[in-house]
Amino acid sequence: MQSKWNLVWDNCLKIIKDNINIQSFKTWFEPIKPVALDNNVLTIQVPSQFFYEWLEEHYVTLLRKTIKRELGDDAKLEYRILMESNTQSTNPATVNYPNSRESSNYMNEMNMPGIFSTPMVKNPFVIPGLKKINVDSQLNPNYTFDNYVEGDCNRLARSAGMAVAKAPGGTAFNPLVLYGGVGLGKTHLVQAIGNFIKTANSNKSVLYVSSEKFTNQFVDYLKNNNVNDFIHFYQMIDVLILDDIQFFSGKTRTQDIFFHIFNHLHQSGKQLILTSDRAPKDLEGMEERLLSRFKWGLSADLQIPDFETRIAILKNKMHADGIEIPNDVVEFVAYNIKSNVRELEGVLISLLAQSSLTRQEINLELAKKTVMSFVKSVSKEISMETIQKTVCDFFEVPIDKLKEQTRKRHVVQARQLSMYFAKEYTNQSLKAIGSHFGGRDHSTVIHSCQAVRNLIDTDEEFKESVDELKKRIQLSI
Ligand code: ADP
Ligand code: MG
Repeated sequence: MQSKWNLVWDNCLKIIKDNINIQSFKTWFEPIKPVALDNNVLTIQVPSQFFYEWLEEHYVTLLRKTIKRELGDDAKLEYRILMESNTQSTNPATVNYPNSRESSNYMNEMNMPGIFSTPMVKNPFVIPGLKKINVDSQLNPNYTFDNYVEGDCNRLARSAGMAVAKAPGGTAFNPLVLYGGVGLGKTHLVQAIGNFIKTANSNKSVLYVSSEKFTNQFVDYLKNNNVNDFIHFYQMIDVLILDDIQFFSGKTRTQDIFFHIFNHLHQSGKQLILTSDRAPKDLEGMEERLLSRFKWGLSADLQIPDFETRIAILKNKMHADGIEIPNDVVEFVAYNIKSNVRELEGVLISLLAQSSLTRQEINLELAKKTVMSFVKSVSKEISMETIQKTVCDFFEVPIDKLKEQTRKRHVVQARQLSMYFAKEYTNQSLKAIGSHFGGRDHSTVIHSCQAVRNLIDTDEEFKESVDELKKRIQLSI
């Protein structure tokens, strides 16, 4: 025979079902179990704290209205939350749902800690076969602290990383957010932290995941109506390393789910380590509440390594691979490849490959050729003359025309493009650039650059010409 609360809840479900989409219904309402009805207080059991928070955040109004409709104005709702399955002594928490007269400040009350009262019920969301210990960390064991060269550029990030590695969840650096441009060592450092923790604590589940993979997984689970498995999985992790969170920008649903996972882990003293290609404050399309969480811990940036550190990184890599390269070559490479450690390594690998293929020894000559193919402007700056000449050759316009007042279309285009490239490739001021075009003023240069950018965005053929010109200019040095 059906109990009274089952009947009431069944009626509620019918109303709820009509008001939300089927997928949300399956995800968030089907797993709910009504467990009691006393004094007009309906108690429903939800699988986790996370689940409760989600319902409160997204469905509180619907729930409140529905329950009042079924049970009258003085109806109350109580949640019973199943605690995580690994702590056997803990009982489910009960959270009181406020009654209607207090509903204006219900949100405050919901933040009160739960009351632990009812006996333990087995958590239905344990994924069969998925034990804590079995989580594959997805870490690459080659990234360690030992082969992460220290320099001024990474000192703070590295030492904060080390502190977290020694006491995950036990420092003020939670979350630890590491940010910096491409190829500056973010992934290496966070993986080193993960590997360190794994080695020191075999019982801790560490997980490295890119934000892209996290998002794709979430979408898959959503499609298959298994969001709870997804959540549950992430809630079991002791150290969550999420790489490249800028990928979340504009993805509100993913941010939403991550926000809750974040809260859960943080509250349980678990460690969160995040990376981003820019400072959290500069992340766009990110929910404010998520950004504010990032500020709870420490944000440390990775900067471009200085010359000495670049040499140290190259030597470290050579040492690891057991190769010898003359000092002048190492210095040449370190001097010319400035902004990106990945490129630095790329040149090294490319040098090795070329020397073994051509059986040529690695010398300065070979290094120059290799470096050339990696960077657009090797120490030598591209000159204004080079730019003007390349562009004018391309459009078959005499160089002198650039300085004249003529408004013929292809001359105007050549002039604007030359100014644009001058802005891109030289360090000259707008005024100085203008002076190379018959003394035009800086606002003309700004206007030209803007006109070129607009055309690049809207005119495919024009963009192709620009790409071709870029190549020619770079080759001309
Ligand atoms: P990011 O994630 O910031 O784009 P990565 O961590 O992938 O950069 O680093 C790019 C490459 O440079 C990797 O092969 C990494 O091992 C290497 N690298 C970066 N910084 C250092 C460093 N300080 N010491 C040694 N190798 C480094
Ligand atoms: Mg990376």
